[in-house]
Amino acid sequence: MCGIVGYIGERDAYPILIKGLKRLEYRGYDSAGVALMNGNLNVYKKKGKVNDLVDFIGTSNTKGNMGIGHTRWATHGIPDDLNAHPHLSGEERLVIIHNGIIENYAPIKEWLKTKGHTFKSETDTEVLIHLIEEIQKDGDLSIEEAVRLALTKVVGAYAIVVIDRLDPNKMVAARKSSPLVVGIGKDEFFIASDATPIVEYTNQVVYLDDNEIAVLTKNDGLKVINIENEVQRPLVHEIDMKIEAIEKGGYDYFMHKEIYEQPNTIADCMRGRLNVQEGWARLGGLSQYKNRICNADRIIIVACGTSWHSGLIAEYLFEDLARIPVEVEYASEFRYRNPIISEKDVVIAISQSGETADTLAALELAKKQGALTYGICNVVGSSIARVTDSGSYIHAGPEIGVASTKAFTGQVTLLSLMALTIAYERGTISTNRYQELISELGRIPKKVEETLKCDDQVKVVSEKMKDSSNALYLGRGYNFPVALEGALKLKEISYIHAEGYPAAEMKHGPIALIDENMPVVVVATNPSAHEKIVSNVQEVKARKGVVIAIVNEGDSVLKEIADLVIEIPLTLEPFTPLLSVIPMQLLSYHIAVMRGCNVDQPRNLAKSVTVE
Ligand code: GLU
Repeated sequence: MCGIVGYIGERDAYPILIKGLKRLEYRGYDSAGVALMNGNLNVYKKKGKVNDLVDFIGTSNTKGNMGIGHTRWATHGIPDDLNAHPHLSGEERLVIIHNGIIENYAPIKEWLKTKGHTFKSETDTEVLIHLIEEIQKDGDLSIEEAVRLALTKVVGAYAIVVIDRLDPNKMVAARKSSPLVVGIGKDEFFIASDATPIVEYTNQVVYLDDNEIAVLTKNDGLKVINIENEVQRPLVHEIDMKIEAIEKGGYDYFMHKEIYEQPNTIADCMRGRLNVQEGWARLGGLSQYKNRICNADRIIIVACGTSWHSGLIAEYLFEDLARIPVEVEYASEFRYRNPIISEKDVVIAISQSGETADTLAALELAKKQGALTYGICNVVGSSIARVTDSGSYIHAGPEIGVASTKAFTGQVTLLSLMALTIAYERGTISTNRYQELISELGRIPKKVEETLKCDDQVKVVSEKMKDSSNALYLGRGYNFPVALEGALKLKEISYIHAEGYPAAEMKHGPIALIDENMPVVVVATNPSAHEKIVSNVQEVKARKGVVIAIVNEGDSVLKEIADLVIEIPLTLEPFTPLLSVIPMQLLSYHIAVMRGCNVDQPRNLAKSVTVE
């Protein structure tokens, strides 16, 4: 949610900010804005995308060696020019960009009004900068001290960057529950919501922690204090991210590129963790807590959105192979339910960004109640990766398309490795079965590559589905979560209403919706459910539904009954989701393109959901 970028140094800040904002646009695109410091503060902001901002700025003065930029995902106030960030203080001495929500903005605003403040926007952010101004003026304080004191009065989540026109060599940033990365160059600093705007300038970064305030001063280095005013010692990390990984590389959309990257990203996820020749699977993150995890009473998985679907697949994997009871929870529901958690539980949090606010909060709750916490994230150094007792990265590389694809298959791959490792340790599968699964997992990248060849068949199906207003997705067993994921993908990028259901549940309600206008996508690649799913397809056909079946190559039965089929390679049942989700991703992608939708930036959505 919302992208933040800042620069202070000798270079021209404007091009750095614009390029950075384009990289961060996946986080929000309701409006964009920059503030540039060159003696004066020039603020430009505009509703819409970063390109709209660039058009709006045109040839206006963009000089300045220090500046901040923001791309918004609106929470307080509609997306318009006035609510766009940056926001100026009343006297226009200070300027702020903010990611997150100031929950107690209303009483603070009322109090500030009694002090004579008036507001131009509906945002919580503008209230915060007026509060900082009031505190600064009252005590004649430095900007960092005013920011610090203001933050002691604030409830909520934030990543902020503030500039003071009267202190022109300094930028102050702070975070709580929203990410901020400081890039350290030679006599220059960068700051951003993630490392993508920074990597082409430096690989030295500091991840700010919650309640930390960073003071970036030209020629005087980086100082980090906490909200209690204690000096902190920042830890400098070296990041390894390639520029090509954050560019489109000839594809029209990041989502398309990311779908096609999957043979490689899945192989990257397995690297060093799966050895087919020697016949083992191993996860570094598990080794330290092996006993506790293998003897857990229960595994609770907390996640949101697509990651929650990965969690559902893990429920099948862990129960089927490792015989540990699993509960999969929406993080947002779990945390507010007063859940029963014990020290014998292991709580696994799954999040691509590692910043998902609800998942983080659920983890904190689990930690407090003594559970062992394990994070599965993509973004290195993210909050979830840092607060958990242990964890594993999926190593999918930056995922920029808002609709998750390669992160999903990365998560499922990682969870498969985890289930196999635990199953082996617990002795819940035979050596033969273990070896068979290890060998097949090793073949998955190649099979994903073969699966991608179904693209032409998917395009034919897309033509047929593109004008529908509804769609039903059905699956059983390991492929029930894939049906949910297929429906979610379609909803989020093509705006077609879609529902995912366990195939057998269809007759308990959704069957009433079926007629000749309702496409029904059936995921039928798990061998053990084949006959049952054939019956479900017959039930749909008997009611004139249009059946699109995802089948294994050579499935003559479903080819005969279904209206359209998409054939994919056969694999062992626990790994079928890794292949069957590919046509789902391609289907939503092609339909969205055919409908003229912006695939990478679907309306109202944003990646990295750092608000609750
Ligand atoms: N709450 C702020 C707003 O609505 C910031 C939202 C964001 O994270 O983009 O403007």
